[in-house]
Amino acid sequence: MPVILKGANVANAINKNTQTLVQMLKKTGIEPTLAVIAIMPNNSDLAYQNTIKKECSVLGITLKVINMPHNTSTTQLCEQIEQINKNNSIHGCLLFQPTPKNIDINKIRTLLKPQKDVDGITSTSLSAVFTDILDNNLGFAPCTAQACINILDYYNIKIIGKHIAVIGRSLVVGRPVALLLSNRHATVTICHSKTQNLANICRNADIIISAAGVANLVDKTFLSKNQVILDVGINIVTNGKICGDVDYETVLNYVEAITPVPGGVGTVTTAVLLYNVATAAKNSVKKEVV
Ligand code: NAD
Repeated sequence: MPVILKGANVANAINKNTQTLVQMLKKTGIEPTLAVIAIMPNNSDLAYQNTIKKECSVLGITLKVINMPHNTSTTQLCEQIEQINKNNSIHGCLLFQPTPKNIDINKIRTLLKPQKDVDGITSTSLSAVFTDILDNNLGFAPCTAQACINILDYYNIKIIGKHIAVIGRSLVVGRPVALLLSNRHATVTICHSKTQNLANICRNADIIISAAGVANLVDKTFLSKNQVILDVGINIVTNGKICGDVDYETVLNYVEAITPVPGGVGTVTTAVLLYNVATAAKNSVKKEVV
């Protein structure tokens, strides 16, 4: 039987660290605070928002939800981001993506302070992922990409030297996770909608990370022996059920380990986000001048 890489175990371990950090900060009078900007949120944004709300209250993080109307302009969003940048009591900012088509997301990428960029959307955060200098407090890796790394680490799945096929090349998941894995000495093949022989590439990989947003994309033809699969996809199928990119039931007996959907990568993403908020709050404390 395959190992089911349950997200809850990983999330609990991360949340423990977050809780310790939050308690320490509160003793010094700092209330870690996350601002969530939601422009015309869809059902999956609202579901994510509810999870964040629940977890924030468990972990003692203050949540401020900023709802903006569907016709928000780039200028209005920029003004909101400027206010968050200036507000010392807000430590992290999450903007639900994708934003409406009229929003110039590149402006936001350069405007939000990287120190508050807890979901790794800014150019500075992404270039820190690219150059492997995240330790310098130059922003954060995108939470879902980081969640994949945390899952592999938690379950002691070796990254170094492994061939990893990443399906998807968005700035939210595919590309950053590929870079994080490469920084950890994996050999990574980034696949996308124009990739030829996708199944063949995946068959030759030790680990498959699928972030395409296509239900049942990864089936038995993608598999060979002893593979690990992380299923990032979240797809709502006809009966309202949520499924990933992997034809889960069919592949289950052919893989060594696999994340379920729901209950896999998504669960860890929220934990990473809130850990980043606590870290951003900690980093905001000015070092005492000696
Ligand atoms: P996106 O639409 O921006 O990117 C999808 C990527 O998949 C693209 O690079 C595209 O080229 C590739 N792709 C699409 N169809 C393909 C196919 N048939 N074969 C190969 N590649 C294909 O989406 P995204 O924001 O990167 O999200 C991807 C999926 O992950 C979605 O289902 C999304 O809901 C989910 N997601 C989950 C979490 C989580 O926490 N679990 C977080 C973010 C996104």
